[in-house]
Amino acid sequence: MNELLSETLQGGCNCGAVRYTLTPGFRMGPYACHCTLCQTRTGSAFAEHMVVLRSALEVPGADWEGKTVNPSGAEVMLYGCNSCGARLWGENLTVPGLATLRCGTLDRSAEVEPEAHLWVSSKQAWITLPHGTKAMDEQPRSNEEWMRELGHMP
Ligand SMILES: [Zn+2]
Ligand SMILES: [Zn+2]
Repeated sequence: MNELLSETLQGGCNCGAVRYTLTPGFRMGPYACHCTLCQTRTGSAFAEHMVVLRSALEVPGADWEGKTVNPSGAEVMLYGCNSCGARLWGENLTVPGLATLRCGTLDRSAEVEPEAHLWVSSKQAWITLPHGTKAMDEQPRSNEEWMRELGHMP
């Protein structure tokens, strides 16, 4: 788990056309987002994200982009593979310099365990969170709160 926050990581889309390398640097711990927007956007029960430095993410082949709005109202650009449709990361336009990586696209995704669960107020009822895990009804309200809850310096 801690290794995922410090090591060089690789990942990519389903078809292999887009591969990325995440070099070491500031990262926030992975979190699961149970907001209804993530549910709709992913067609699943929740999204699993990790905030990283955009400059640490090398993605030469990404050739798809879209735009969405997150629960706080901020516009988010999404990027991924135009061939297979996998969405790899997002960039919140109000927090330039950071990227929100989709943890399921990591080659080592099986090692990812969320450090926090956000928007538990709209979590699907069948999901039982691990005992003692950090859970928030909504999400951190400020950059300072994000850092306090999930920040990890290299
Ligand atoms: Zn692809
Ligand atoms: Zn969400």
